[in-house]
Amino acid sequence: MRRTFLLLIALIIGILGIAAPASAAFSDRAKDMAKITGIRIGKTDGNVRIVVDSDRPVSYKYTVLSNPTRVVLDVQNAWIAPEAKKNTSVDSPLVSSVRAAQFDAATVRIVVETTVGKGGWKAFSIEGEKPRIVMDFGAAPGTKSAPKRPVPVQPAEPDADTGDASDTDRIHRDIDAITGMRGRIIAIDPGHGGSDSGAIGPTGIMEKSVTLRVSRELKRLLEAEGARVVLTRTGDTEVSSKGASATSVEELEARCEVANRAHADIFLSIHADAFTNREVKGTTTYYYTKGTERSKRLADSVRTALIDAIGTLDRGTQTSNFYVVKHTDMPAILVEISFISNPDEEKMMNSESGIRKIAQGIADGIADYFG
Ligand SMILES: [Zn+2]
Repeated sequence: MRRTFLLLIALIIGILGIAAPASAAFSDRAKDMAKITGIRIGKTDGNVRIVVDSDRPVSYKYTVLSNPTRVVLDVQNAWIAPEAKKNTSVDSPLVSSVRAAQFDAATVRIVVETTVGKGGWKAFSIEGEKPRIVMDFGAAPGTKSAPKRPVPVQPAEPDADTGDASDTDRIHRDIDAITGMRGRIIAIDPGHGGSDSGAIGPTGIMEKSVTLRVSRELKRLLEAEGARVVLTRTGDTEVSSKGASATSVEELEARCEVANRAHADIFLSIHADAFTNREVKGTTTYYYTKGTERSKRLADSVRTALIDAIGTLDRGTQTSNFYVVKHTDMPAILVEISFISNPDEEKMMNSESGIRKIAQGIADGIADYFG
């Protein structure tokens, strides 16, 4: 792990710092917010019911956009659990898709693409033991609860009736921002590979295989949210065309080149940590010492969301002083998922569920960064 660790630290390049104060850690903010725990979609007699489950009563507002018709429901002072995020096609003439994601720091946005016009749908909330918001499209049968709190539309801009093009554009941008990732180019570097196994855990699990599995799953998740993902390697190989005979610097340059050629918006190098003492554990993210505020913010977002997902010890965001590789000009971080030298963390990183949680956590952190 050491050789490429140094290499990849060197990848962590920051340029063009745009000062943006780091916001409070997401896990701190989340304590005071409602958690959206699930989005359920049901069809009854051809009608579609969407239920938004939360851990406490929530307030919301909605708006309707046209071409195509979308009902946009914003749940306020809320955050969405990773497993509740959705981007689902619905096989119904009334509703074609449902998307749910964190829209901004305190808003969960649900977008329903529908053919149902005004009056053909309704939303209401139910409090009590299982608080939830219900959206019914079509004349859903058996809806006994009186509609409650469907707060009137609050347009994005006060003068919405002017139909100003810039407002429309803005709303469309807002919609795209449901994932924050549409159109983003993200370079993911699975650490090590080929002749370089990286660190090896107590039972023989190799870092290079963990990093590749995580990166592939991460690619899938990010692409599902509309990003374009470039992997520096897709198999168990070196990245340099010189293969195993490449020098450390050549291998590093090859990885940078992949990100640069793709004009990536951000770069993440994925690693597992290791130490002689097997009890050492936890998650760390790194960015270059002279890196930008944006690199730091990316490192913070990814670390926080990753720890939320896998429950590891927080070893903080660190800086590193290794030399800068030329021409890498996007925010860049290195993620040490956890310690492959620690038996528990090795096991977690080698399990299917662990890989999925890690990838989801990193994806959430990226969404938080772009949000
Ligand atoms: Zn490594």
